[in-house]
Amino acid sequence: MPLVVFAPATVAVILAGLVGGTLLVRRRGYNVGGRVIVRCHAGHFFATLWIPGASVKSIRLGWWRIQRCPVGHHWTMVAPVRVASLTEDQRRQAEQYSDGPIP
Ligand SMILES: [Zn+2]
Repeated sequence: MPLVVFAPATVAVILAGLVGGTLLVRRRGYNVGGRVIVRCHAGHFFATLWIPGASVKSIRLGWWRIQRCPVGHHWTMVAPVRVASLTEDQRRQAEQYSDGPIP
C-alpha cells in the first residue's frame, strides 16, 4: 500500500495554522491545547484533553466535537467554554468529571 507523504512545506503550513489558531483562542480565554472545560449539548460540564489537530476519542466538527459525555453517559456535541464564564459549582462539576488522558 502506498504511503502518503506530505511535502515539508505543507506540514509546516498545517502546523503553523494549528499553533496560530490555538494561540488565538487561548488569548480569548479558552484553554484549548491542554485540559479544557467543555459543555455538552445537555448542559453538562466536564474536563477533557483538547489538542487542536489531534483527537482519537471524538469526531471533530470545527469548534465542536462529538464525544462521549462522562456526566450523562451519552454521545453528544461538546464545545469549549470560557473558564471565567463558569460559576464555582459548574467549575467544580467539570473538574469532578474528567474523561481521561486521551485527546
Ligand atoms: Zn452530557
